[in-house]
Amino acid sequence: MSNLDQLRNRVDELNVELLKLINERARLVQEIGRVKETQGVYRYDPVRERSMLDLIKDNNDGPFENSTIEHIFKEIFKAGLELQKDDHRKALLVSRKKKPEDTIVDVKGVKVGTGTPQLIFGPCAVESYEQVATVAEAVKAKGLRLLRGGAYKPRTSPYDFQGLGLEGLKILKRVADEYNLGVISEIVSPQDIETAVQYIDVIQIGARNMQNFELLKAAGAVDKPILLKRGLSATIEEFINAAEYIMAQGNGQIILCERGIRTYERATRNTLDISAVPILKQETHLPVLVDVTHSTGRRDLLLPMAKAALAVGADGIMAEVHPDPAVALSDSAQQMNLKQFDDFMAELQSSTHVRV
Ligand code: PEP
Ligand code: MN
Repeated sequence: MSNLDQLRNRVDELNVELLKLINERARLVQEIGRVKETQGVYRYDPVRERSMLDLIKDNNDGPFENSTIEHIFKEIFKAGLELQKDDHRKALLVSRKKKPEDTIVDVKGVKVGTGTPQLIFGPCAVESYEQVATVAEAVKAKGLRLLRGGAYKPRTSPYDFQGLGLEGLKILKRVADEYNLGVISEIVSPQDIETAVQYIDVIQIGARNMQNFELLKAAGAVDKPILLKRGLSATIEEFINAAEYIMAQGNGQIILCERGIRTYERATRNTLDISAVPILKQETHLPVLVDVTHSTGRRDLLLPMAKAALAVGADGIMAEVHPDPAVALSDSAQQMNLKQFDDFMAELQSSTHVRV
């Protein structure tokens, strides 16, 4: 064998040796990633990286320059970090990869996520006992079992009606008991969650709070179904991660709700991202609802959007109903009155598989 061949053979041997070492290092990095996951931390640690680089450079006798060595090792570190990330993504608790079967959320005996669509109606805001009871009566008359109503209203203007607060939750509880309905209401601050669980059956986290991480963690710490709405400008990945915040704290009873996202289009209040429904169904095991009211802001679009949502596999629909929308204290232009609600239900039932 020529001298050149011998040298090349040795380089080949070293390449294989390096490959083994790099992969051995990768396995250790993965192991570290799993330990970090159980501790609830995942993050790039610059201090650790600096000390690893210093140790390497201290041991560098050349011929490579320190800067070259640093560059090579930074690439190895980066690849390791990517591996940890992938491991973490694969392991998202809300993902289908983690749990292939559908999650079914039980709300006072009503099962959300079984394939039978569930419909949630009610006023935008709780305004009075009579107002909520009137809608509850209409909901009950149709054989429906779920009612919505906001007691804490996150309004765009601080001068608009902010909701009745605890008084509103008490009204919801009274109506829920009298009509045997499950009630859903939005909570906006972590410190109200403990109180809210005594009054309502589902805690809603609204679009404006989808990335209020302290609220998500507080919602994850209670034993109560959570309805999480997609943020106004949230990507699907951010939405899924928001749900993960809740589940990471131990509460897996999560219902996702697509409610439209902000785009340049002004014909509708928001743009209903209908493709989010099958994507969320594929990527997560959680039930997915569509709020046709806030996504469109238009009464004339409630029915077609509800049909579209069910056609693409939504587990249910949410829409606002008010006894007299013209005098509603919030969202007066988009809520259905009782007659419109009757028509909506009749048409939805005649044109889809919705049966109640
Ligand atoms: C609501 O459902 O009452 C509401 C305020 O909706 P969103 O958070 O989706 O705007
Ligand atoms: Mn509303």
